Amino acid sequence: MTRLPLRLALPPLALFVLLAAPRPLAAQTTASTPLGPTQGLVRDATVTAVLHDISPSRLRATDSALVSFGTRNTLSDTLSSTRGIGAARRWLHAQMEAISKDCGGCLRVEYDPAMVEVMRDPARPTVNVVNVLGWLPGRDTTHVIVIGGHYDSCVCSLPGGGYDTTTTAPGADDDGSGSSAVLELARTFAKRYPHGLNATIVFAIYAGEEQGLLGSTHLAKRLKDGGYTVLAGMTDDIAGDVQAEDGTVDSTHVRIFAADPDNSPSRELGRYVWALGHLYLHGFTVNPIWRIDRIQRGGDHMPYVESGWAGLRFSEPLENYNHQHLPTDQFQFVNFGYLANVARANAMTVASIAAAPITPQDARAVREAHGASGGQAWALSWQPSPGAVKYEVLIRRTISPQYERVVDVGNVTNYVLHTQLDDEWAGVRAVDANGHRSMTAPLPSPPPLRSFNRAPEPGRGARGGSGPTP
Ligand SMILES: [Zn+2]
Repeated sequence: MTRLPLRLALPPLALFVLLAAPRPLAAQTTASTPLGPTQGLVRDATVTAVLHDISPSRLRATDSALVSFGTRNTLSDTLSSTRGIGAARRWLHAQMEAISKDCGGCLRVEYDPAMVEVMRDPARPTVNVVNVLGWLPGRDTTHVIVIGGHYDSCVCSLPGGGYDTTTTAPGADDDGSGSSAVLELARTFAKRYPHGLNATIVFAIYAGEEQGLLGSTHLAKRLKDGGYTVLAGMTDDIAGDVQAEDGTVDSTHVRIFAADPDNSPSRELGRYVWALGHLYLHGFTVNPIWRIDRIQRGGDHMPYVESGWAGLRFSEPLENYNHQHLPTDQFQFVNFGYLANVARANAMTVASIAAAPITPQDARAVREAHGASGGQAWALSWQPSPGAVKYEVLIRRTISPQYERVVDVGNVTNYVLHTQLDDEWAGVRAVDANGHRSMTAPLPSPPPLRSFNRAPEPGRGARGGSGPTP
């Protein structure tokens, strides 16, 4: 019996300290691998081919044709074959049809009309807002990616200009640039993916943006009512002019706008696009802006964000307010080499999301309060994504804009993460056999939807489109 004499040999205070001290357990942490700027995404040869196919000269030809219709105000003439929004949309529809013909009918081309109340024009209480859509059906026809631009134009910066249906409104940059990019994406995707991808893609060219996002609001509602899940609702708007009014030039960046909160689907989409930029673009940089849009301005991604989906706006870095919503928004101010790079940023995004298994749905994180960890671990779960061979959990500090570590959790839909998510954010993504990775589903998931505060612009309603900043 050696223990008893040993205990008795200790002075009373030392014995108390020995017994009261916590057991020196090493905290259990999940092993992870560091992530760089590309976030562990893998290059895909077909995506590279699509980027190569995007043609500045075709973008130039499309924008030139759009400008030739004089005005594309949503309330302008619809009967003329040469001037007004009716002629413009018939031309866009014919272009989509021609693209589809070349791929054996791979696109489903449609006019997407809606009679919309325009409260601010007493002379014309309702207007027929007609989007032009090209659908590239995927193997999964319920999950869609929308890439859009708006073909309507205005001279909104002139008094009454939002409803001026006759003054020439070239809209070469706003948003002939975005519309041209979307048509070019339809063309290049039809060529490289005539049988579609995993998710379905909608190439959307909207009307009614300048009267308050009317066309995109209609399409987002139509998709919601139709039971679709939009994986990403994105817009190219004001995406081709590289020179500000003071002469400053920036032709090497594109801004992406991604809405709050920090774990929103839009922010996860923004992180994904940012990483893809590091993977695919050379000499051209994606510049993430962590807000829904420019201050007091809006765009056609917002109806998707407000539906609880991921939304994103692509825009040039320097805007020229002397050219916006005015007869001076002219063709010669659009740089088509630059616009091609914006279209490439769109293409890498759309193709990567569409090729991957869908983003894990119904992702949840629950504190493991009564388990062995005593609250230091989190139980993660998600729905299986068809085609996934495994899942990865990504982790970042709350102050980090991009994920910093990855855990390969294998082909499971439940996982106990020994990381304290009070102090970090996590996300889960699906990986297929070819290494295609989905966007991350945020963990914990974001709070319930809140409506964004759209500040009214001078002389315009609260739901103003891209009106000028005061
Ligand atoms: Zn616009």
